[in-house]
Amino acid sequence: MANQNGLIQETKTEKLEVVAAKKPPVPPGGYSTISRKQLLQNLEVNSGGRINSWVDSMRASSPTQINSSTSLLDDQSSWMVHHPSALGMFGDIINASKGKQIVMFLDYDGTLSPIVEDPDRAFMSDAMRATVRKLARHFPTAIVSGRCRDKVYSFVRLAELFYAGSHGMDIKGPSKGSNYKKGDQAVLYQPASEFLPMIDEVHKALLDKTKSTPGVIVENNKFCVSVHFRCVDEKKWTELAQQVKAVLKEYPELSLSQGRMVLEIRPTIKWDKGKALEFLLESLGYTNCADVFPVYIGDDRTDEDAFNVLRERGQGFGILVSKVPKETNAAYSLQEPAEVMVFLRRLVEWKKLTLRRQFRMRRRIEELKMSLAI
Ligand SMILES: [Mg+2]
Repeated sequence: MANQNGLIQETKTEKLEVVAAKKPPVPPGGYSTISRKQLLQNLEVNSGGRINSWVDSMRASSPTQINSSTSLLDDQSSWMVHHPSALGMFGDIINASKGKQIVMFLDYDGTLSPIVEDPDRAFMSDAMRATVRKLARHFPTAIVSGRCRDKVYSFVRLAELFYAGSHGMDIKGPSKGSNYKKGDQAVLYQPASEFLPMIDEVHKALLDKTKSTPGVIVENNKFCVSVHFRCVDEKKWTELAQQVKAVLKEYPELSLSQGRMVLEIRPTIKWDKGKALEFLLESLGYTNCADVFPVYIGDDRTDEDAFNVLRERGQGFGILVSKVPKETNAAYSLQEPAEVMVFLRRLVEWKKLTLRRQFRMRRRIEELKMSLAI
């Protein structure tokens, strides 16, 4: 099954790149996509009882649902025209960033690491870690994850990065080794700290309520709780979603949203990955700055908030990691973490080449000045 799907994906990629190459890139921000409101209508299950539509949506995003039908190939071809491969469009992306400071924002699960059955074993490869380390040497780099900050740090283990855990509700700057740390001032921001006792309470209540469902994993991510469906029999998904919803009824201050094979419970404050992106740009000194080019790479619905911020600011672009067409505010796409790594490596190589050229240019000018002075 996996091999068969893999072959299908390869075929799709070849066909799609041809389609994408025929059409000039649409500038980020110029696509017609669904609104944030429409997205939320599909996602929110706390108030409207949309359990069935949510479960259907999760099934649709499940890898087991990928099939080889012609219509799916056509759908993907059409989707790729609007969200071309960031690898295929690399030159255009670099041209758009000319004269601006690129700032990198990276989701973790499904972006830097593969989605695995046990979320505690979502390790990133050594090659990916080395790539992200090099990336952070050349560009300010932040990891933005739904996971708790300590957990995502334990996977990434790079002190020179910014980390925004719990969907951006727990932000911390580099502890050492960053070229982009501002003075001695540590960046630390936790906009939902008063919710910590409530999150602990709801975590315990969810553990108790869902304990009869085999395979469920309830994860306390400090400022949010994630209920993972990855290892739960699909026949049990509706029942599990109803159990989660029943617990949430007692907590009107918390809201429920859908991620990739996960339900997430968060404080109902106006804070998300998009707000975290804006906060980090501000921390780096890029408030109201035209010379910044943020790039956000993520695979999840919760990353849409960040894609949307970039679209609204008209700065940089979002890249969705997905093998299947999805409604998105991202401008470009990559199929899987392996492609993310190739993209990040290309960025590093391009930057190194640019720095070498600039160095040679400066040296020539100095030599010219010296010869004129003699
Ligand atoms: Mg993710």
